[in-house]
Amino acid sequence: MDTLYKKKALFVDRDGVIVVEGVVDGHDDIIYQIDSYEKIIYKPHVFEALREIGRRTDYELVMVSNQDGVGTPSYPYETYEGPAERIFATLRGEDIVFDDVNVDFSLPEDNCPGRKPGTAMLTRYMDGSYDLSRSFMIGDRLTDMMLAKALGAKGIWYTESKENVPEDLKDTVAIKTDSWLSIASFLTCGEVKEHRRSSVRRTTAETDISLSVDLDGTGVGHIHTGIGFFDHMLDQVVKHSRCDISGDVKGDTEVDEHHSAEDTALALGSAFLSALGDKRGIERYGFEIVMMDDVAATVAVDFSGRDELIYDVEFTMDYVGSFPTELIRHFFRSFSSAARCNIYISATKGGNSHHTAEAIFKAFARALRKAVRRIPGDDSVSSTKGVL
Ligand SMILES: [Mg+2]
Repeated sequence: MDTLYKKKALFVDRDGVIVVEGVVDGHDDIIYQIDSYEKIIYKPHVFEALREIGRRTDYELVMVSNQDGVGTPSYPYETYEGPAERIFATLRGEDIVFDDVNVDFSLPEDNCPGRKPGTAMLTRYMDGSYDLSRSFMIGDRLTDMMLAKALGAKGIWYTESKENVPEDLKDTVAIKTDSWLSIASFLTCGEVKEHRRSSVRRTTAETDISLSVDLDGTGVGHIHTGIGFFDHMLDQVVKHSRCDISGDVKGDTEVDEHHSAEDTALALGSAFLSALGDKRGIERYGFEIVMMDDVAATVAVDFSGRDELIYDVEFTMDYVGSFPTELIRHFFRSFSSAARCNIYISATKGGNSHHTAEAIFKAFARALRKAVRRIPGDDSVSSTKGVL
């Protein structure tokens, strides 16, 4: 069949790709079937990625799955059907609808022609109406990549395996990745962006800190320092920056809070700097005024590549809880130097010290949120110098 416009298909495996393919504890080679609801665990970002691929591309979505031995006494159809339907229902709820579903129930020893990498289930895609050379198969196994090759399609090998792409599949496998967001970015030609993430481990004689940041998160996470008021302030940073931040700080609090506050700021600043990468397409500047009852705090942030702190704050109390208010200045000075950003902070005078601190941290978080935001469609550096 000759048509001016040929359709494209995105063939997608299920187990190991949409849902986690479970292994029996202690036996990596024994895979369990998803024959009960509690075994359904979705892969990270699969909903976001498939939804965006669906919205931004014109691939037909085609599931291709082997479900070994469905209908046999050890895997009755009824135990397959419920969880399988639940997976589709959940995907539909996320606006992800498969145009076609192909599931082979045979066992490997049956040698069925429909079993991957056999193409017998997919002959309708091979009649010339589909441009298979521009179609993709997403799978976690090499048999999925072999199916892509047999179809004349390209493969997206979704795996955490360190194994190299075999020689005979090098022309087939377009990308190998363990990230659904990378797949979405690839298939949408960069319209879907990968999350900007980083992890920092900082160990000294005074503190031991592990911390991770996702600038494109939703404000989830917690940094545990063991210092109540400081944790409360860091919670404000997580919540109001809408960055996902998790961390564990083991500090010498038996000495005092100083090292923990300073090193947490340094680790957090390093994580932001690293996650921002070359800073292409970001706003760079962020500012916010936040009120908390009797106090108004103003914060401006500039990811300029330089570090300066302008700090116009006076506390009425020396401590909030067990936390010295003088360390708040030090926290921001340390963040500024590690993240290489300029920070301006001022707050109205004479107010409650807890309110003053909290208004500052909230305003800082919201300024961060604006400064690290990506400008849609902009890949430039926000500086006439060309670098930040
Ligand atoms: Mg699989």
